[in-house]
Amino acid sequence: MTELFPVPTEFAKQALIDEKTYQEWYDRSVNDPDGFWGEHGKRLDWIKPYSKVKDVSYSGDVSIKWFADGTLNVAANCLDRHLATRGDQTAIIWEGDDPNDSKHVTYRELHEQVCRLSNAMVDLGIKKGDRVTIYLPMIVEAAVAMLACARVGAIHSIVFGGFSPDALAGRIQDCDSSLVITADEGLRGGRKVPLKANVDKALETCWSVKNVIVVKRTGGNIHMVTGRDHWYEDLSAKAAPTHTAEEMNAEDPLFILYTSGSTGKPKGVLHTTGGYLCYAAMTHQYVFDYHDGDVYWCTADVGWVTGHSYIVYGPLANGAITLMFEGIPTYPDASRFWQVVDKHKVNIFYTAPTAIRSLMREGEEIVKKTSRSSLRLLGSVGEPINPEAWLWYHRVVGDNRCPIVDTWWQTETGGILITPLPGATALKPGSATRPFFGVKPLMVDAEGKVLEGAVEGNLCLAEPGWPGQMRTIYGDHERFGQTYFSTYPGLYFTGDGARRDTDGYYWITGRVDDVINVSGHRMGTAEVESALVAHPKVAEAAVVGYPHEIKGQGIYAYVTLIQGEEPTEELRKELVGWVRKEIGPIASPDLIQWSPGLPKTRSGKIMRRILRKIAENEFGALGDTSTLADPTVVEDLIENRMNRG
Ligand code: ATP
Ligand code: MG
Repeated sequence: MTELFPVPTEFAKQALIDEKTYQEWYDRSVNDPDGFWGEHGKRLDWIKPYSKVKDVSYSGDVSIKWFADGTLNVAANCLDRHLATRGDQTAIIWEGDDPNDSKHVTYRELHEQVCRLSNAMVDLGIKKGDRVTIYLPMIVEAAVAMLACARVGAIHSIVFGGFSPDALAGRIQDCDSSLVITADEGLRGGRKVPLKANVDKALETCWSVKNVIVVKRTGGNIHMVTGRDHWYEDLSAKAAPTHTAEEMNAEDPLFILYTSGSTGKPKGVLHTTGGYLCYAAMTHQYVFDYHDGDVYWCTADVGWVTGHSYIVYGPLANGAITLMFEGIPTYPDASRFWQVVDKHKVNIFYTAPTAIRSLMREGEEIVKKTSRSSLRLLGSVGEPINPEAWLWYHRVVGDNRCPIVDTWWQTETGGILITPLPGATALKPGSATRPFFGVKPLMVDAEGKVLEGAVEGNLCLAEPGWPGQMRTIYGDHERFGQTYFSTYPGLYFTGDGARRDTDGYYWITGRVDDVINVSGHRMGTAEVESALVAHPKVAEAAVVGYPHEIKGQGIYAYVTLIQGEEPTEELRKELVGWVRKEIGPIASPDLIQWSPGLPKTRSGKIMRRILRKIAENEFGALGDTSTLADPTVVEDLIENRMNRG
């Protein structure tokens, strides 16, 4: 039996949305989407109000439009409209890599910086519709660059600062950027990242780029190309401090963002202006139960969609205080997150399961020595969170006091789709629980038959939909339809599998590609992984299928032990017995490989497709590995693989 965590009484007292409101709003959002979103669209400031709300078709030549005849500007919504009421309030708390380095930036200051950069970009010839690649570390200028693009109507494409010159070049070429905004060097965990040098290398093969703006972060020695490269500080100082924001149509593109690539070649996901901002702001407010003055911290990088929607756009549209962290969770030591929470009195904390699991390995002491008394709410995103990690997060980090919102969504969806609302939803560890407003999940079998009741299946989303959904793959609308709407015609297919329980709660079981079929029993890899991680000696586990003569597919588990535990034959047997006891004999791993590390994307997701290849003994064809964080991990796994047949 899954333990149920009701809404804590204290939390319920102040929560924005209670159970009754959730039900009423949800019903209206799916039955009367025009009425519902017509009202909620008004949370934004429109230059020309919309008269149409929803114009969506998931069939045929897929077309998705919201608020299509309205005009607005995203930067004006995130900055200008707050100046009168909260100009001197902090917009961004910046916490540097070095614990002694932090600052507060007010809405007024941020507005001025954005106006200056906007003017500088216009002087460089940037106009509405141009693409700008941003390759910056987690510094305030990253938000400034995003908002300046939005202000002048340019489409930004952020490339995570950890990506190689090749990966950067590919993303610049895909959208023909004419401007790159970067820094001399980045700083993470005390180490320097040669951003400008990477840009120089990438630009050897990118002919579209005319200008590069370079922020001075470390003052390190870099090469500036005359005529092409400009110091951000010089341009800003010379530029005027005010700028009139460009009037954009609700359906004008806001940004392109490439997916993390855990399943294949990254796709250039395109989001537009009005619907995206409305949805990012609304989910930020209600999922995180954001109240004026709360200090909110999302630990993602702005290079991922989570950073776009929940560090910059959602929070700033709401006039929130958003914390931006340059460093890593383990520098100078593994209690950094909690030290930062205490230092800035963080109320809402949003991170990824991978971070939680790696911090779990370090033990409770390092968490418990900090206060964390300011925390009110915790969040998780990026992968299924194993119940074990959920319970640890709840008990150790949140002192049994803070609800956890396990938020399921994708780059493609722009914002959170399945999630608890902390004042309305009783929690079950490991479940993302229920759909947000407008979101209509359907469970579908392999043939496309819609399944009712408590079942397991492929997770699809039906119309009406929500305004934050992606509109197309940049430059390839056909691939958009093909990728998301052709598997089950008329439905958006998420690529994820899920289980719906008798309470109507959703449990994401992982990607459908990762489902394994053992002797005719279909099993999500997440379930076996959760069982393994629940063992006290296991820190992390990844499970894939491999060809098995008798069972069709066998279960191959990669297991990382917690610090100080020895991999022994005895422990291997113990783990097999453990899973057998936790789930049943059908789930017992056939092969267990000890893996000191797992191949992850740079956003920290396990790349199971690589693990699958190694398990299949087909490691010659690993596919696109450009988004891999540490390639040496793969070499070690290949060398010590268990299936050599
Ligand atoms: P690609 O699409 O290129 O393979 P990706 O799917 O990893 O990469 P993202 O858009 O960053 O790129 O991640 C979205 C996916 O992450 C979801 O489809 C889901 O598989 C997983 N995910 C995100 N949040 C959760 C969550 N709370 N619970 C379970 N899975 C999650
Ligand atoms: Mg995906």
